[in-house]
Amino acid sequence: TGIYHSLVKLGDHQKIPTRPDLDTATFVLSQFPQAKKSESQIALVDAATGRRVTYAQLLRSIRSLASALYHALGVRKGDVVFVLSPNSLLYPTICLAVLSVGAALTTANPLNTASEISKQVRDSGAKLAISAPEELHKLSPTGVPTILTSRKSNNHNLHFLSVEELIECFDPPLEFPRVAQAQSDTAAILYSSGTTGTSKGVILTHANFIAFMTLLRWSADVSSANDDVFLCFIPMFHIYGLAFFVLGLLCVGTTTVVMQKFDFQAMLHAIKAHKVSNILAVPPVILGLVKNASKAGGGLSSLRRVGSGAAPLSKQVADEFRRRFPWVELRQGYGLTESCGAATYFVSDKDAKARSDSSGMLIPSFCAKVVDIETGKALPPYGEGELWLKSPTIMKGYLGNVEATAATIDSDGWLRTGDLCYFDGDGFVYIVDRIKELIKHNGYQVAPAELEAILLSHPTILDAAVIPVEDEEAGQIPMAYVVKAAGSELNEEEVIQFVAGQVAPYKKVRRVGFTIAIPRSAAGKILRKELLSQSKHQLVSK
Ligand code: AMP
Repeated sequence: TGIYHSLVKLGDHQKIPTRPDLDTATFVLSQFPQAKKSESQIALVDAATGRRVTYAQLLRSIRSLASALYHALGVRKGDVVFVLSPNSLLYPTICLAVLSVGAALTTANPLNTASEISKQVRDSGAKLAISAPEELHKLSPTGVPTILTSRKSNNHNLHFLSVEELIECFDPPLEFPRVAQAQSDTAAILYSSGTTGTSKGVILTHANFIAFMTLLRWSADVSSANDDVFLCFIPMFHIYGLAFFVLGLLCVGTTTVVMQKFDFQAMLHAIKAHKVSNILAVPPVILGLVKNASKAGGGLSSLRRVGSGAAPLSKQVADEFRRRFPWVELRQGYGLTESCGAATYFVSDKDAKARSDSSGMLIPSFCAKVVDIETGKALPPYGEGELWLKSPTIMKGYLGNVEATAATIDSDGWLRTGDLCYFDGDGFVYIVDRIKELIKHNGYQVAPAELEAILLSHPTILDAAVIPVEDEEAGQIPMAYVVKAAGSELNEEEVIQFVAGQVAPYKKVRRVGFTIAIPRSAAGKILRKELLSQSKHQLVSK
């Protein structure tokens, strides 16, 4: 039939709960360790300060904050709450409290500029924002009521409430009426550019998260040990961090050491200090470990397993990692915001070792088709085509964008991933290329259409197109092709600075080529393939 099914079957006790009124927060909290165990079991540890939070304390702070959101701030079912913060011990509390009152979350990269944040506040219809103190200035212009995560020790921003104070004030929590929720309600709106255009709000429902968390429990059953200690430097605002660290692993009952953000030395230090056994990483981190193997090796003796996702991991780097750290299992996974996290994963290390360039097998409940881009036909093993996915974790659609939703999810519920892949004869998936416009810099999304709009706003730029250029460290960097007006003296550095002034640092254009025309189709679409081969030519001849 041309459809690939997951080869792994869930046991009866691992079935995805279908009760229609089950919501994400209720599900997660019901999985917390019970009674005495929850008093002693550590849920979260702050990598910088060593502060620990038990499951019982976490539960209490979630209940208190939910109560404060309901009674003091009037947050209700259907509201959207914007969270703008780097990783912290409070992040999971904030997300689960917001979900407990029936509101939906929207999260953003704290590196984003004020105008990027304003746009998301407007698009998501956020009613309240919760901001780290140092990001507050980006929310002020939006006029959305804002509370701080913490006020730190200095007494700045005295007229803003903070999450820390609210938790204290509402301990013990005041009851509030149980909010009737449905699995089909929106739980989160995360931003992704999808296969084309600028950032769009990906609507993820409670059903999506509950399915993901059930599947993660399945994978933990088959591959985790009770004494696992995870390290989280993956951003919690991104689906990778949100699905695994904010929600999923709390259902498994493991301990997570939280780093505010990624820093190579701090990561090595945290692994050693907290005897970390598992890290979930992105390819540049794996490369960093390989390059610093002799320095890092001794301190990594506690590591048992490393996962890699969010961007392709090269076979050469993966093999070298295994050679340098033979005691560590390395497994690649693949997924996207639109699929609420991972879609493929390795169940066994033996398989992962034998197939360094594969991203694993379909996770239970997933089906896939590999669709020939020219003929639209579903292909058998080893045929290369676009990966289409179907599963209970697939998003509901893009917020307020029927057209983009219809272009991405077909009437049978298949999600077009925009990634080129093939399956081998044993059901393993190999992602070979990205056919969508999306650029990934250090695992972060960069939408060419967004940079092109900024370039076109320059008075002496007549036309522009942005494409990815391969980069060993960051995976890809954005390169702009620019057509300048006659007589313009615009140079590469000026173009780079013009864009850099308006976007988050990870979205910067890092290379510029001047050209006389941007190749376009009759319908005006940029012919990115032509530019890509042009750039490869130029780079080779340089
Ligand atoms: P995001 O929505 O930010 O998670 O980005 C999803 C995209 O990241 C996918 O559509 C792929 O293009 C890319 N990606 C994620 N994981 C992998 C992987 N293991 N190999 C290749 N590309 C990946």
